[in-house]
Amino acid sequence: MAADYAFFKGGIVPIDKAKVGIRTHALQYGTACFEGIRGYWNKEEEQLYILHLEAHYRRFLRSCKILKIDLPYSLEELCKVTVELADRNGYREDAYIRPLAYKSSETISPRLHNLEGDLAIYMIPLGDYIDTSKGVRTMVSSWRRVADNAIPARGKITGSYINSAFAKTEAAENGFDEAIVLTEDGHVCEGSAENIFLVRYGKIITPPLSEDILEGVTRDTIIQIAKDEIGIETVERKVDRTELYVADELFFCGTGAQVSPIIEVDRRAVGDGKPGPITSKISRLYFDIVRGKVPKYHKWLTPVYSEKHVKV
Ligand code: PMP
Repeated sequence: MAADYAFFKGGIVPIDKAKVGIRTHALQYGTACFEGIRGYWNKEEEQLYILHLEAHYRRFLRSCKILKIDLPYSLEELCKVTVELADRNGYREDAYIRPLAYKSSETISPRLHNLEGDLAIYMIPLGDYIDTSKGVRTMVSSWRRVADNAIPARGKITGSYINSAFAKTEAAENGFDEAIVLTEDGHVCEGSAENIFLVRYGKIITPPLSEDILEGVTRDTIIQIAKDEIGIETVERKVDRTELYVADELFFCGTGAQVSPIIEVDRRAVGDGKPGPITSKISRLYFDIVRGKVPKYHKWLTPVYSEKHVKV
């Protein structure tokens, strides 16, 4: 079995040594931000490829800025320490890497200023978070997305995931796989932890960055693949709820969700109720790219092991 180490208080330690006290500010008030990064195991090459490592840490630093968390690490140092940690853990399977920047002061009062910040990173094995083959059944949530002037959704802020949790649990308890959340003014925003795309009349459409969405790394990837590999430019515009009902195809995307076709919304079949042709094409391209099978896109991958990772 792979060893289990975390990065904690400036060094790599066994995971059971990575603990915080109950008075920690981030635990009390949700004053932390995080990333979710995937590592894909390539069996033939015996290599773990981390997808879009730099892009995730660039967003991480933007989230830190919003929360006034001043980490003593540069983008390069964050990437380097993550590869070191992954190497130490020695996974030979798909993995999920979770960096967390948190207000570590043990003090009372909800605020962002005059507090210490710290960094922790850990990993878990992770296969499919959503079944990406048969498609997901969704409902439009009765919960609205947090607005930028309440809790900015563009920052991946731990406290704001209460909003996602309400939506996800409502959907699950009503027998659906996932929720679609609307903005405060009633436009389509995203899933509980995924961005959303529609296909209508051969056009690919997704809500813009000003619609209280998380600025998804996978969203950018999909926009680029659609343009460069399929020749379709994505239109970023506001989307009405009922456009979901009449779309030819719908899919979620995200680090966890990867590319997940949506086959039902509010008990209406999407298209003919099966993953559509454009979604399927994007999905195939995506999975080939992330597993390191397309040389042109190797630039998106960071190999963890310096040589073939031989099982010990
Ligand atoms: N929206 C939300 C709310 C999310 O939590 C996620 C997952 N990080 C996404 C979208 C997708 O973002 P990414 O592609 O960067 O994982």
